Amino acid sequence: MKGFAMKKIGEVGWVEKDKPDYGPYDALVKPIALAPCTSDIHTVWAGAIGERTDMILGHEALGVIAEVGSEVKDFKPGDKVIVPAITPDWYSDAVQRGFSSQTGGPLSGWKFSNFKDGVFGEYFHVNVADWNLAHLPEEIPLEAAVMIPDMLTTGFMGAENAKIPMGGSVAVLGIGPVGLSAVAGAQLQGAGRIFAVGTRPNCVDVAKKYGATDIISYKDGNTADQIVEATDGEGVDAVIVAGGNSNILIDAVNTARAGSVISNINYFGEGDTLPIPRVGWGFGMADKDFATGLCPGGRVRMENLADIVKYGRMDPGLMATHVFHGFEKIEEALLLMKDKPRDLIKPVVIIDENL
Ligand code: NDP
Ligand code: ZN
Repeated sequence: MKGFAMKKIGEVGWVEKDKPDYGPYDALVKPIALAPCTSDIHTVWAGAIGERTDMILGHEALGVIAEVGSEVKDFKPGDKVIVPAITPDWYSDAVQRGFSSQTGGPLSGWKFSNFKDGVFGEYFHVNVADWNLAHLPEEIPLEAAVMIPDMLTTGFMGAENAKIPMGGSVAVLGIGPVGLSAVAGAQLQGAGRIFAVGTRPNCVDVAKKYGATDIISYKDGNTADQIVEATDGEGVDAVIVAGGNSNILIDAVNTARAGSVISNINYFGEGDTLPIPRVGWGFGMADKDFATGLCPGGRVRMENLADIVKYGRMDPGLMATHVFHGFEKIEEALLLMKDKPRDLIKPVVIIDENL
């Protein structure tokens, strides 16, 4: 089978591989819709998780079941499924402790394009199919549903971890597809005022549709100063970090008021340490907490997110600005994600021949 792979740090290309093997609880899936992620860009071009050789990329997919193991109960060949980016080993202590993304060690729920081949292949392997896959509701268009496996689960987690008080104020730093999903999540969580920080016009438009009340350009001056001034010197109740480089944490801490949570969903791809402003953090005593997380996976999470879309609470299809058709287009879509033209929010590839 063919797959689009990281050949080594800084280099991508097509590879030929055998179809993956699968165990009794697992499934073999063919993709019907794929999307590249900024994390794929960190992985290849920043070398963020270290060297990988000929590893098939990708962790955002909808698929159709090709084969299942003997113990899989709820899925059969031909079923259309949502495939979460994070596919935990549900038989593990980390799950019982409540941290399903970290099964087997830090970030180890993230298997696709990290510890095994990803979803940009003609076939891919899904572990513990009954507890990782979810049936794809036929009412949801593919370009909307393909945002569920990573964009929605990540952005919504950012809002959930931020512990936004009902009617409280939130600043979302970065409004690419991850930050936009966080804006929508903040709205769904009952935020009052939502500051959205970014400049790409399409992103700004969608941010407003998802509930942003104030748009801030980080190019028009210091972000924290602008938000603190707009809140009469107070700062906000919650900050969600979803873009920028490591210096964004300085803005985040300086934007947060006492009693707030700074909820990070950014993937810091470079550097050994991250900055925290000493004075802004009250010399370490400011009552400004940090929350971190890796987008939750699993069947129940996917089913819940699918309901949010199916019942019209938000439309993630608004983020699909570039829709391609044909498996081989994943190359173009990934390079688009790397180059980030100003009109891009998220590229999506529909694989018509597998539908
Ligand atoms: P994008 O590159 O599309 O968006 C980044 C956003 O950050 C843009 O809105 C950009 O603004 C904004 N930005 C850039 N610099 C600054 C700055 N100095 N201050 C404020 N905003 C700034 O990225 P994605 O939305 O695709 O992904 C965001 C991050 O989420 C990535 O690091 C990705 O790897 C990570 N991620 C994390 C996951 C998790 O589980 N935690 C899962 C998936 C992704 P502009 O409009 O000017 O471009
Ligand atoms: Zn991702």
